[in-house]
Amino acid sequence: MERPELLIPAGNLEKLRTAILYGADAVYAGVEGLSLRAHQAEFSMEELAQGGKEAHQKQVKVYAALNIFARDSDLSLVVQRAGELAEIGVDAVILSDPGVLRLIRQNHPHLSLHLSTQANTTNAEAVRFWREQGVSRIVLARELSLAEVAWIKAEVPEVELELFVHGAMCVAYSGRCLLSAALTGRSANRGECTHPCRWGYALVERTRPHEPFFLEEEPRYSYLLSSRDLRMIEYLPQLLAAGVSSLKVEGRMKSVYYLAVVTRTYRWALDAADQNPTAYSCQPEWLAELDKVSNRGYTTGFYFGEQEDAALNTGQSYRQSHGLAGTVLRHSPQEHKILVELRNRLSAGDETELLLPEQTVPLDSAKMTDEEGNPLAEGHNSYRVYFPVADGLEIPAGAVLRRKITGD
Ligand code: SF4
Repeated sequence: MERPELLIPAGNLEKLRTAILYGADAVYAGVEGLSLRAHQAEFSMEELAQGGKEAHQKQVKVYAALNIFARDSDLSLVVQRAGELAEIGVDAVILSDPGVLRLIRQNHPHLSLHLSTQANTTNAEAVRFWREQGVSRIVLARELSLAEVAWIKAEVPEVELELFVHGAMCVAYSGRCLLSAALTGRSANRGECTHPCRWGYALVERTRPHEPFFLEEEPRYSYLLSSRDLRMIEYLPQLLAAGVSSLKVEGRMKSVYYLAVVTRTYRWALDAADQNPTAYSCQPEWLAELDKVSNRGYTTGFYFGEQEDAALNTGQSYRQSHGLAGTVLRHSPQEHKILVELRNRLSAGDETELLLPEQTVPLDSAKMTDEEGNPLAEGHNSYRVYFPVADGLEIPAGAVLRRKITGD
């Protein structure tokens, strides 16, 4: 059985480095102006060149998203960017528009092509069609069951299949949705979704606009349109058995804390499943880790059939027990300390942990100091502070610290 890769979103250069540090086999990154993500989750070409170099040094692949639904006015930029991506040496481009595909094949025929989930590929005949257009991998529609995925792989084994295994889901079919454009003027199909499906809604009787009915599932309102988040970590052997080449995590807009936790947890699980799929058992501590990042409750989506309550949320807003505290700038093993840049407020006494790729190390926040060694009762975003650490730990720059959220 082919060893599938763990594919992690990289919204910027720091997140790309986080994904590499915590065990990604491959990352996907947006290309400025053309990636179906807002600008804050895109790379400039210089950043992508740098990120590509660093990733390749660690044998991590880089896929560049050019999956915009291009207008004619976008096409010259598409061709230009594709040329730059070929020079950078990205491992593939992800696209969804047939015109973009045709132009890239004409102008840069050596680029590998992956078809985005936005293309809604749902059957083997469609996979054959895209193979004939030069596509080597397809990100299947999220609405397929695992049985349908396995059928497609058996029918067209030469095409690689990629599946989402973790992260937010759209309630619209593969993201084709006008809700955001209608309510905020920012279109999901141009990469600017404001996620109005996850807002709270109330029922209003037409003649009494100021007397909304709030539904009872949540004290304030009900999240009727919102989907729970996908989590397939319990079912990795089934994904492997279906012949999936790439397990994809959603979320180029997510924080480095989220990426660190999700990447290393799936790394641990995928290594276990890969070594011995029949003995695989999802560990309770892996599930506990995934509860420590922002989520809206978890679901297996459509993978086991559409009867699975279609993942709709019944009154669940975002929740998370821990948040980003800071990132390691430098480890000084001789002095037994780390220099950390705080990314949020941290108080002495806060439950704080250092996340390493293989383990979690508790830190004593009461021992946080400034550069001169003076104890700090509190630090704030962008403060540079020190923590003592035990001997024998290998602590890379970029490692993430988290803090338990206490509701203060
Ligand atoms: S509003 Fe919700 S359903 Fe629509 S595209 Fe955005 S995330 Fe998806």
